[in-house]
Amino acid sequence: METVKFKEEINTLKKFFEVYCNEKHMDQENITKTFFYKNEEIKLHLNMCPECLAKINYSFDRLLECPHDIKPRCRTCPTPCYEKKQWKEAAKVMRYSGMKLGLLSLNKKIRNIFKRN
Ligand SMILES: [Zn+2]
Repeated sequence: METVKFKEEINTLKKFFEVYCNEKHMDQENITKTFFYKNEEIKLHLNMCPECLAKINYSFDRLLECPHDIKPRCRTCPTPCYEKKQWKEAAKVMRYSGMKLGLLSLNKKIRNIFKRN
């Protein structure tokens, strides 16, 4: 996949895992992760517990090895690369945070509607 797409994907994972971890766990640590993707160095700052870090690292590894030039959504991928257990755990995080983030932006929209000038 394109480097731009790769960056987008790792940032989405970061966002979702951080929301999940901050709600569910304690002991978050600040970590800087460095990726090498198509000869480009990409740094990503993460704030999460060691358990979530292990899970997101698994997802990062899958992404790094993704063979698709145009990456399909993992859910509809013809060649799924996640092991079943890891897939379930990642899906749980994405579902939870997706709902949470959806609600947050909805709240914001509602607030904007009612905001007085
Ligand atoms: Zn966590």
